[in-house]
Amino acid sequence: MAHEMTVREVRDAVRSRARSAADVCRDALARIEAVNPQLNAFNTIVSDRAMARAQEIDRAPDCWRDAPLTGVPVALKDNLCTRGVRTTASSRMLEHYVPPYDATVVARLERAGAVIVGKTNCDEFAMGSSNETSAFGPVRNPWALDRIPGGTSGGSAAAVAAGLTPMALGSDTGGSIRQPAAMCGVVGLKPTYGRVSRYGLIAHASSLDQIGPLTRTVHDAALTLGVLAGSDAADATSATEPVPDYTAALTGDVRGTRIGIPRALLEGIDAEVSRAMVAALDVLGTRGATLVDVDLPHARYATPVYYLVSTAEASSNLARYDGVRYGFRAANGPATANGPARAGHHDLKAMYSQTRARGFGPEVKRRIMLGTYVLSAGYYDAYYLKAQQVRTLILRDYTQAFTHVDVVAMPTSPTPAVRIGERIADPVQMYLMDVFTVSANLSGLPAISVPCGFTLGRLPIGLQLMGRRFDEATLLRVADAYERDTEWSKQSPLPISSR
Ligand code: GLN
Repeated sequence: MAHEMTVREVRDAVRSRARSAADVCRDALARIEAVNPQLNAFNTIVSDRAMARAQEIDRAPDCWRDAPLTGVPVALKDNLCTRGVRTTASSRMLEHYVPPYDATVVARLERAGAVIVGKTNCDEFAMGSSNETSAFGPVRNPWALDRIPGGTSGGSAAAVAAGLTPMALGSDTGGSIRQPAAMCGVVGLKPTYGRVSRYGLIAHASSLDQIGPLTRTVHDAALTLGVLAGSDAADATSATEPVPDYTAALTGDVRGTRIGIPRALLEGIDAEVSRAMVAALDVLGTRGATLVDVDLPHARYATPVYYLVSTAEASSNLARYDGVRYGFRAANGPATANGPARAGHHDLKAMYSQTRARGFGPEVKRRIMLGTYVLSAGYYDAYYLKAQQVRTLILRDYTQAFTHVDVVAMPTSPTPAVRIGERIADPVQMYLMDVFTVSANLSGLPAISVPCGFTLGRLPIGLQLMGRRFDEATLLRVADAYERDTEWSKQSPLPISSR
């Protein structure tokens, strides 16, 4: 079926003219129209723009014969700026914001021949772990419509899992590509910090954010990373490290590759997740990888450290939404004891506070308050500084581990997808869902989530692999070798595809 094609298959079909880009695009749009109302995966669908672009590709086949993504429909998380296309970060604050420029990754995808079909729903300003903090309602998991798709790139993960597009981009500050990939049964890759330009990504926490792909296969993740990666004059933190041919690294050979397992960290996780992980490591062992125990003594502090560092940075990044420079401005003052609501603002402070009170949702406000608190003069040393120090210890644990292993393996999420509404009332329970993903961001390391099985109730489970800085090639090689021996990525969510 067309909607089960991979990035590579679609591209090859369009390049060889077995199918036209317009035909592929029309199919994708029709499927989005049919399926999206059940999922709420898209905030914006740009049908006319996409069809015009696909036809343009069809008119100039010679220009696109060697492009890596010729005619491939893609979806973008709605925190990636698109020139002329509304970009909301799933917030009322930016509900009507139309950026005057493209994010670097958007420009690179289009230069590679991709066709953007729409912007995907996510948690508000990429803050959450379940996609329930979106101002535009939760996304539903294609494998079980009463469950979360994971967050914050939940719309992107659901779109790929349901076959709406073969690839989507997400952003990952503390797990937001990998965790929804795991919960929706797709591949999600967070590159090394600096590997991909962040220019045009609406910032959550600038020292942690990275953009990366969600795909059905590891090969497609490698292909997409090759398009996205590389230095960018517009992002001073983007790395000049050369970009290898990631697809060439997919040899299927893991003989002698050393995989570290942090056993102490894995105690008490969900039994089905644990069983799936052990079975996955067995597969890699059979292929010739060596399994080794590793010690990550500071990893158990990663979640609190992450929520101190990320909220501090978020409180600073979000200060720009003041009703003057971007997006929403509260139209008038509130009714007070002194009189009815006013038509205009006489007082700048009242305008700021009304704009921020109405424009941001509860989770974003909680982060701004937490972050402002940990940065305040009296508490900076006790919280922010201390967190940065422990962050260094977490990185040192990994540096030490990578002197004797090539990758570190653990589950992506401690549990499979929970029901919508199950955790949203308890922020701490929600934050604990990030226990295995935040370390990669705190230490800047690359990490991938690859499907590794299902629960008895047919909910997907993800295996996470973390690697050395700028060694995405090894991660992709190991994940691809695993994928070759298993059938997980070939399965489709039945409730959706049977309709
Ligand atoms: N769940 C984490 C948070 O809420 C990570 C979010 C992300 O990676 N964008 O901050």
